[in-house]
Amino acid sequence: MSDVSVVPAVEAPAVPALFVSHGAPNMILHDSATRDFLAGLGAKLPRPKAIVSVSAHFMARQPAVVFDPAPEMIYDFGGFERELYQMQYPAPGDPALAERVFARLAAAGLDPARIEKRGFDHGTWVPLKLMYREADIPVVQLSVQPRRDPRHHWEMGRALAPLARDGVLVLASGSLTHNLHEVFGRHGGFRAMDETPPAWVTDFADWMAEKVAAGDVDALLDYREQAPFAGRNHPTDEHLLPLFVALGAGGAGTAIHRETQFAVLSMDAYRFAA
Ligand code: ZN
Repeated sequence: MSDVSVVPAVEAPAVPALFVSHGAPNMILHDSATRDFLAGLGAKLPRPKAIVSVSAHFMARQPAVVFDPAPEMIYDFGGFERELYQMQYPAPGDPALAERVFARLAAAGLDPARIEKRGFDHGTWVPLKLMYREADIPVVQLSVQPRRDPRHHWEMGRALAPLARDGVLVLASGSLTHNLHEVFGRHGGFRAMDETPPAWVTDFADWMAEKVAAGDVDALLDYREQAPFAGRNHPTDEHLLPLFVALGAGGAGTAIHRETQFAVLSMDAYRFAA
């Protein structure tokens, strides 16, 4: 007769926090190094038991936590290929995890808000559809606060760090550079996907990679003052803010993917710790 009570509980392995650049909404339809990278990324990580997705396309005044048990789709873009508007990502929500996220943010004094119903925006579903195409891992969405600074977002990540150590993937989705005006060339259309990036883009991306690798949190949180061409790469910084959540959740990091599309959109990705 065996005594099952002495068998330790099987705990999920810690998973790294991630920052990924989601690119244009139709990135998922076209061959690129970034699409290949994201399509292979899920298999390279310990399987998370759930995901907290922090998308640049979910903006709120307070850290908003979504409790929706069955999020629908949001096609929050216009003028792209028809098939994009038929894509589905039927992953369930996870109200119990949402409760834990909410409680941790509240305990950290970050004044979270509850959202009962909200679908997945493309910052969430585009990377996840590539990474976990079966859509069988529950997803809780957490907003960014475009009126708040990088430190606030880093503190959100710090509050979530115990979840990452408990097998929850903090997936931050934005864009390492994001000047949409510059994505368009002289004739109004997108620049060529493989156009060589200018120095104001690569200098910024290199600086970020260097500071992340050095674990220089102070410099990263002060990127707007210290990073070269910060304002030109981020006229507004909602697409970089998710990165600071992943940095807070995971700690020291490293670049795991680098590519620039349309000359000015850095598609770089980072993993933080674990
Ligand atoms: Zn975006």
